[in-house]
Amino acid sequence: MTTTQTLDVAVIGGGFAGIGAAIRLKQRGIENFAILERGAALGGTWRDNTYPGAACDIPSRLYSYSFAPNPNWSQTYSGSAEILGYIEGMAAQYRLRPHVRFGCTVTGIVFDEDAGMWDVAVEGAAPVRARTVVLASGPLANASFPAIRGIETYEGHKIHSARWDHDYDFTGKRVAVIGTGASAVQIIPELVHKAASVKVFQRTPGWVLPRVNRRTGPITKGLYRHVPVAESLARRAWFYGHESVALGVVWNTPLTRVVELVGRAQLRRQVRDPWLRRQLTPDFRAGCKRLLMTDDYYPALQRDNCKLITWPIARLAPHGIRTAEGVEHQADCIVFATGFDVSKTGTPIPITGRDGRVLAEEWSRGAYAYKSVAVSGYPNLFFTFGPNSGPGHNSALVYMEAQIDYLVAAIGAILDRDLRMLDVRRDRQDRYNAAIQRRLTATTWNSGCHSWYLTDDGFNATMYPGFATQYVHQLRELRLEDYHVVAADAGTRAARIAAVS
Ligand code: NAP
Repeated sequence: MTTTQTLDVAVIGGGFAGIGAAIRLKQRGIENFAILERGAALGGTWRDNTYPGAACDIPSRLYSYSFAPNPNWSQTYSGSAEILGYIEGMAAQYRLRPHVRFGCTVTGIVFDEDAGMWDVAVEGAAPVRARTVVLASGPLANASFPAIRGIETYEGHKIHSARWDHDYDFTGKRVAVIGTGASAVQIIPELVHKAASVKVFQRTPGWVLPRVNRRTGPITKGLYRHVPVAESLARRAWFYGHESVALGVVWNTPLTRVVELVGRAQLRRQVRDPWLRRQLTPDFRAGCKRLLMTDDYYPALQRDNCKLITWPIARLAPHGIRTAEGVEHQADCIVFATGFDVSKTGTPIPITGRDGRVLAEEWSRGAYAYKSVAVSGYPNLFFTFGPNSGPGHNSALVYMEAQIDYLVAAIGAILDRDLRMLDVRRDRQDRYNAAIQRRLTATTWNSGCHSWYLTDDGFNATMYPGFATQYVHQLRELRLEDYHVVAADAGTRAARIAAVS
């Protein structure tokens, strides 16, 4: 195969992060880039998650980019179609379409140290060569069916929450839902209105907190449209409101008890039956798993056509789900709201860096990076939503925006100074990660529950143990002294080795 084109930047993934990176690259005057998107449309997780009730549990004013404010959000917590519309609107406004290559599945990237180039292999197409790569493939991209015994024998209809089948008619059907996480609590209140019966298979009850959703009236929208500073003040208010919650949600402190009191009050207010309340009471610290923000879930569970099943699933049978006490629950359809295959101990695609090192091997016991964005030995490669960049209390978009501005500054430095390599120093990276892991020990995520944030042996490669303000601050400035900086004319690796020996 021949190489077709040398790009300044290959952006892998056309979701929120990839689109944001592309906009900021353009605003920095960098035009020679492509967004390599495996799907046929932009939007990433918001293109894929179209299940009924799909919405974001962070207020839209904050779950958006500060550089692309939207005065027209219809409500506090907008639904997935509106969020997808926002993403598509940004792509149109910033004329990103000519940069997007749809159906472009990247199968691996290899760094050519002498040339200071990444070779990007693409399934069924010529490879792409790029000076820099932005890996924006997202942590929640791969829907995962659980390894439940007998899953292949089930003869009814199977639907994963992240790959919704809009052609399936739930009317009059007996539906089973496996999982009670953030996706399930949005789906179940919708399903109970259509299906004949809904059985909810719960393994672990989560902390449910109220989510007060309000429609945004025309006067408020007009205000935000005509007085942009009002919009930005509203965003700021949401931001600091969420920051204050970190004291009880991120860290395992006496304030965590206050969050739990709010959860218990919601349970008492919405669930009358003491036995059901007991079944729905979590046995771990609030925040350890993602908080579930909903006012509709508990009422849905108590409808006549809905039933909570707490017996463990033993296996799937051809016509339903068998639980450990020997009962078979017949179901025409099973909805798997069982989450995603999140790579915490590998890489989403094979990545080969300097001297042939393989990132998946280095990350085999848990991923790490410098400030979540760069990894030593893999120059000119930048991650969005990389290791330890997950928020538990604030908008992921705030974190993403900080990553994007940092990596665009780094890419700008590479191009402006004609650098062959910008490779983060190992000692800086190690020091950073030692501090992160030390700080994580005091957080709710590491307080003893099982969640997708942790590897099987309890290593937290996912979450950032601090305020969003701290995270943003650490990425505000690109400090070149944190990197090995190699100029384009510095001679080849072989010549450098020869010169030393
Ligand atoms: P999730 O949080 O990983 O929840 C998966 C659910 O499936 C859990 O209740 C889990 O039980 C259960 N489960 C998994 N395997 C099972 C098995 N073999 N048998 C029985 N139950 C099983 O997945 P999700 O709800 O799709 O959410 C994933 C992430 O997406 C969230 O953490 C969040 O970051 C994001 N999300 C965000 C929003 C939003 O509004 N912003 C909405 C939806 C999703 P256990 O708890 O016992 O493991």
